[in-house]
Amino acid sequence: MRKLPNIIVTGTPGTGKSIHCERLKELMPKMTYRSINEYVKEHSLEDGFDEERQSTMVDEDKLVDLLTGDLDKGGCIIDWHVCHIFPEGLIDLVVVLRTSTNRLFDRLKERNYPEKKFMDNIDSEIMEIILNDARESYDPEIVIELQSNDNDDLESNCQRIESWAKQWIIDNDENA
Ligand code: ADP
Ligand code: MN
Repeated sequence: MRKLPNIIVTGTPGTGKSIHCERLKELMPKMTYRSINEYVKEHSLEDGFDEERQSTMVDEDKLVDLLTGDLDKGGCIIDWHVCHIFPEGLIDLVVVLRTSTNRLFDRLKERNYPEKKFMDNIDSEIMEIILNDARESYDPEIVIELQSNDNDDLESNCQRIESWAKQWIIDNDENA
């Protein structure tokens, strides 16, 4: 039985996954932060490069194999735009961050992505691709959609996630 919950923070690139996870790490120091982009580099989980999408492909089977050890222990915060590959039984909360088109436009402009990659991400956010993916892959009851437009959103989202985690810990305490 896990003592700490596993949380996925997902969303279109630029919606604020990493900045949320950094704040969550401060609020919940016992949790383990797993930025999958970094994890893939550390463990050499790359599986080629997709020229059309201009993005690194990942050996998802190997990634899940490696991460499952961590997830079994509990207390992981996963930061990645792909959410459907993780074992359903080991995930307790899926946070899908959302950002208005204007703001996402400005944030992605700063990344100097190639035009196609830039527009693919804007389209993906408008079409709610990741939100739908999350709802199809997990019990919709554990999927929450949170706005990530400004600093107030960031702070209130992280406080809300922290409160949820505290409650999860109480609800799952074997000794209670
Ligand atoms: P992701 O990890 O989802 O690609 P980041 O966390 O890197 O996104 O955020 C992209 C940029 O947008 C960063 O400069 C970050 O500071 C800013 N940002 C994201 N969400 C917010 C927010 N809710 N309030 C203020 N700035 C934000
Ligand atoms: Mn990021």
